Amino acid sequence: MISDSTVTSSAASSFSALLHDLRAAGPVLWINPQRSGEAAVQTVVDGRGISLADVEAAQARFVRFAPLLAKLFPELAASGGAIESPLVAAPGMQRALGMPPGAGSLWIKCDHSLPVAGSIKARGGIHEVLEFAESLALEHGLVTPDGDYGDYAALADAPARALFGRYQVAVGSTGNLGLSIGVMASALGFRAAVHMSADAKAWKKARLRARGVEVVEHAGDYASAVDAGRRDAAADPYCYFVDDERSLSLMLGYSAAAPHLKAQFAAAGVSVDAEHPLFVYVPCGVGGAPAGIAFGLRQYYGPHVHTFFVEPTQSPCFLVEMLSPGASVYDFGLTNRTEADGLAVPQASELAAEAMRLLLSGVCTVLDDTLFLDLHRLRESEGLQIEPSAAAGFSGPGMLMRTDAGRAYLKQHGLEGVMPRATHLVWTTGGLFVPPDEYARFAERGAALAATV
Ligand SMILES: *Cc1c(COP(=O)(O)O)cnc(C)c1O
Repeated sequence: MISDSTVTSSAASSFSALLHDLRAAGPVLWINPQRSGEAAVQTVVDGRGISLADVEAAQARFVRFAPLLAKLFPELAASGGAIESPLVAAPGMQRALGMPPGAGSLWIKCDHSLPVAGSIKARGGIHEVLEFAESLALEHGLVTPDGDYGDYAALADAPARALFGRYQVAVGSTGNLGLSIGVMASALGFRAAVHMSADAKAWKKARLRARGVEVVEHAGDYASAVDAGRRDAAADPYCYFVDDERSLSLMLGYSAAAPHLKAQFAAAGVSVDAEHPLFVYVPCGVGGAPAGIAFGLRQYYGPHVHTFFVEPTQSPCFLVEMLSPGASVYDFGLTNRTEADGLAVPQASELAAEAMRLLLSGVCTVLDDTLFLDLHRLRESEGLQIEPSAAAGFSGPGMLMRTDAGRAYLKQHGLEGVMPRATHLVWTTGGLFVPPDEYARFAERGAALAATV
């Protein structure tokens, strides 16, 4: 089984063995030696302390805009403008992954089904566009800071659209961030430009063009697409650039997932405390999304939440950044070539890395074949359709429980005895808009792999 071969290669516990496996593009689990077990940890990014109040402010912004979003997007009418996803128990996938009895329970946070953007980018990307729109609307007196939320629905009307139409919102993306920013910006009346890297999928570009978004194609990787976009934007005072490598607004938008998830766990009767640890596994690209989620959850659950990022073996930019600040995956002899287009990022966000120094439990890496295998298993066991990037989290529980590094983590934190009561939450991060023929090819590749294990 693929999951068994991952055990052998990552069982090596010494640091030099980890480096060796990392460079050889084998699956590894790295544990963050700096993680704090304190109840309250001060998080500082760019010299500024961030806290629960920032998470709540991002959530409040989504609430203020909900009436407008319900008006702009028919698919949000039923939720009153809330952009949220289900939390589901996944006993079938738990069996398919071969999680041993006594390991706790597997749950899935279904961000692959997030409306409007079809991926986790609906959280951060949309938040940043809304924050920019709100700052313009306040500046021009179209809404008031302590006014009625009904005001915000008026941002769909002609005066606001004329104002927004003077500005361009631009972003560099491997695809999904562009989809979320482009769709939201154009719905509000902004001009939108998305700088796409060479690995961006054709259907994502087509979907954006159909919405009137300008797609600028670049021959280089994600980092060079971001660079080009940043340079263009700097020359134009009416251009607002969403900078995925340094944006706090994006990160805080993702963090607003935490209060909603907490309510979902409470409604499902799932506790998170010293007796009931929560392990969260989030696919990681540049790091903003998983860092926002890890930061948000830490504000509510303290040290009882253990967040692991999961990256492709050829694109482990966050792990590389934690080991060697400023380094890229190319510095480690890796290619940044992966079918997980949402995670094909050579260099991590330094802002996200700074935020995670004391909060992150660890990073594990996953082979592309394992992504397709887990995508197939998820379809068979739970009937859920996700894109390859979104399958990364499913190798997390195995890496934690079946490797020496993972077992050492559980022992160090005194968690061995409470594992039967643990919750493992895998965050599925994209897939809603994948065209059926494309999904069929992903599933076929996974089924072929399943036949050989
Ligand atoms: C962007 C993305 C991620 C990771 O988000 P980052 O902020 O880049 O780390 C994970 N999964 C999917 C499907 C994505 O599109």
